[in-house]
Amino acid sequence: MPGTNLTREEARTRADLLHVDAYDIELDLSSAREGGTFRSTTVVRFSANTPGAATFIDLVAPSVEEIILNGERLDNANFADNRIALPDLAAENELRIVADCAYTNTGEGLHRFVDPVDGETYLYTQFEVPDARRVFATFEQPDLKATFAFTVTAPEGWVVVSNSPTPTPVGDGDTRLWTFEPTGRISSYITALVAGPYVGVFDSYENGDQTVPLGVYCRPSLREFLDAEAIFEVTKQGFDYFQEKFDFPYPFAKYDQLFVPEFNAGAMENAGAVTLRDQYVFRSKVTDAAYEARAATILHELAHMWFGDLVTMEWWNDLWLNESFATFAEAVCQAEAPGSKWPHSWTTFANQMKTWAYRQDQLPSTHPIMADINDLEDVQVNFDGITYAKGASVLKQLVAYVGQDAFFQGVRAYFKRHAWGNTRLADLLGALEEASGRDLKAWSKAWLETAGINVLRPELTLDGDGGIESFAVLQEAPALPAGAKGEAVLRPHRIAIGLYELTDGTLVRTDRIELDVDGPRTEVPELVGRRRPAVILLNDDDLSYAKVRLDEDSLAVVTEHLGGFTDSLPRALCWASAWDMTRDGELAARDYLALAVSGLARESDIGVVQSVHRQVKLALDSYTDPAWREQGLAQWAEAAEEQLRAAQPGSDHQLAWARTLASVARSAGQLDLLAGLLDGSVEIKGLAVDTELRWTLLGRLAATGRADEAAIAAELVRDNTAAGQEHAASCRASVPTAEAKAAAWASVMESDKLTNYVQDAVIAGFQQADQTELLAPYTAKYFAALKGIWESRSHEIAMLIIVGLYPAVQVEQATLDATDAWLSTADPAPALRRRVVEQRAGVERAIKAQAADRAAGARALGH
Ligand SMILES: [Zn+2]
Repeated sequence: MPGTNLTREEARTRADLLHVDAYDIELDLSSAREGGTFRSTTVVRFSANTPGAATFIDLVAPSVEEIILNGERLDNANFADNRIALPDLAAENELRIVADCAYTNTGEGLHRFVDPVDGETYLYTQFEVPDARRVFATFEQPDLKATFAFTVTAPEGWVVVSNSPTPTPVGDGDTRLWTFEPTGRISSYITALVAGPYVGVFDSYENGDQTVPLGVYCRPSLREFLDAEAIFEVTKQGFDYFQEKFDFPYPFAKYDQLFVPEFNAGAMENAGAVTLRDQYVFRSKVTDAAYEARAATILHELAHMWFGDLVTMEWWNDLWLNESFATFAEAVCQAEAPGSKWPHSWTTFANQMKTWAYRQDQLPSTHPIMADINDLEDVQVNFDGITYAKGASVLKQLVAYVGQDAFFQGVRAYFKRHAWGNTRLADLLGALEEASGRDLKAWSKAWLETAGINVLRPELTLDGDGGIESFAVLQEAPALPAGAKGEAVLRPHRIAIGLYELTDGTLVRTDRIELDVDGPRTEVPELVGRRRPAVILLNDDDLSYAKVRLDEDSLAVVTEHLGGFTDSLPRALCWASAWDMTRDGELAARDYLALAVSGLARESDIGVVQSVHRQVKLALDSYTDPAWREQGLAQWAEAAEEQLRAAQPGSDHQLAWARTLASVARSAGQLDLLAGLLDGSVEIKGLAVDTELRWTLLGRLAATGRADEAAIAAELVRDNTAAGQEHAASCRASVPTAEAKAAAWASVMESDKLTNYVQDAVIAGFQQADQTELLAPYTAKYFAALKGIWESRSHEIAMLIIVGLYPAVQVEQATLDATDAWLSTADPAPALRRRVVEQRAGVERAIKAQAADRAAGARALGH
């Protein structure tokens, strides 16, 4: 439906024509408990600079009741293909539209959820990118800002929260009327409404004369787990830090954070009414890495209040800047804010953001950070590792390049100059050039307008006494995958080189040199004449964005003493480098496993531990020679059991190893252990077998045929919550029988009744690397169904299916062939094609990595 896919050209034309003043939006949610549709009445006042011209307003709704433009009723046939045609505009216009809009179960528009614990209905909106139009008629583009005044009729006993402060509701009987004050001038995609019998906890941020009311909300069934104090603490640290760095007071009247069910993303920066996924309200023990991730999300959304909400991109091609800035801001705030519990945030950044970026940047779909976003479908597939993670990495590099003080000085000028307005990248770069005195045009061209990752390698010669005779940093152009956009270029890098000495098994940094690397070869005279240290680490402190290789001697030391670095950041960089080499087939998967087993024993950073666990699992499932895979899995499972038993009781490491054992247990003894932990006949000191861990254990038992339907049903009785229902659905889909697979498949592919979360759970259970034979018939079914899914489902749901059910577990040429046959005959839409091509690339990479692993195995056997 072209009407839903607004193009950049259409948006530009409409922005040239219109100035939007104000929306008054009345929503009648008295039908919420029944579902179906709700009445939506929009009155929008706007001016047009060319009287007599025509335009359109966006609306996705089952039906329109009334369209009145400047007092005249228009034919309802003006509503077609999700737009309402508006002919013959006056200079000043008032448009009234009455429509019936639909509640959704996909997390887009107005999501409706019923909590099985209390049977109550909970609603929330999610509008980015183009889904405000599912709730009210709107000019759905970020540069047509306006004020928004919501009036909401809701069932008695409910709470209604929006961007403006929560009013006292009026009325009696079954419903109440909530009349919100108009917002400041904001974009439609950051308006919000959360309604239902949610419960709130309140506090305030105080700073001199300034008072900002703070609220934290969740469903009553999660209230006992809501640690509001911890959330307020991080939030206040963020307020202090950002207000000082941005030199601009928080721009909205209050700040609510609402933990909502079945949320597709991590969180959303609605102005003054941030929504977050409610898995962030922890029902069971989680590791400190989960608290750190939640704090990062809280700070990310808070940073958006300035960067994104107060000053907003003109069009979605600058989405990357919006997301990169918030991602950089979350990390720098955690690293520097007084009282921060996670001052090692740059380790986490290196460990997670960088690896995400490196992975995405080597897919055939990679693209320059500044992407061409011609329409809404382009932007919807661009919430990717380039936009968030590479963009943020490059922003970190920009800060190193201009200096942090100059960076924030430029940012301050930018907020003052563009408050409540819209901008392009050039506006920010201009402010940074003024502040830093550096010309950023060449920098921007090299970093933002080209794709791919450079490789940095050391080149050194030694004299007879172990002194460094010469040292240079070599830079390679990115190896762009076939079909990738853009040219491969060398870039200017601001990097640090760390020098480490080995003493009693620990690696301590003894010196650090910071320099500009440019071109294919950069000499480093500062190193000449020194004695060679044990490890020379390029891109130490992770300032730049590059793949880094170690010289042979450094690699030998690191391989043996990876756990010996006293700081977590160089360890994370070396872990990342090893993983990168594994993915590239330069390090055999079995050697990566060996490195992980030895290195993890000394790895204290729990976030790094959990990342390496995930990577080892992926390596074993996809990158090992199939003939050796069972052996590798058995080694890993044994290591997991050993570490689980050796870990400090009650520690995060103990929990992480318990989960890993549960993901990989295969021997009868190990499965007995899981079953014993689950039924309480076995205990491991300090390990709390709580609600979530029980499901993890049961999940493995179900997938290996050790737990039947009765066991799953019994567990659901114990935990009959929304999360419990999702886990149960996942367990059922994982059962290793053809019947279970067929039922799971049908529930996702042949019906749209599953909510986004249940569908996601079913897919996760369905796909099992140990069940390739059972899953083999679904490759053909997948390709046969793909286009129908794309055309009939909402964007989020279609993406879950396309990515989640791709036959990634079938690492073989036949999968590539089936994909290629589909690509050449199906003529898919670009966004659909992109997702399928990305999945194909994963299988292609795995086939190559398996060959490397097979070769390593043959070498070891002396063939
Ligand atoms: Zn964001």
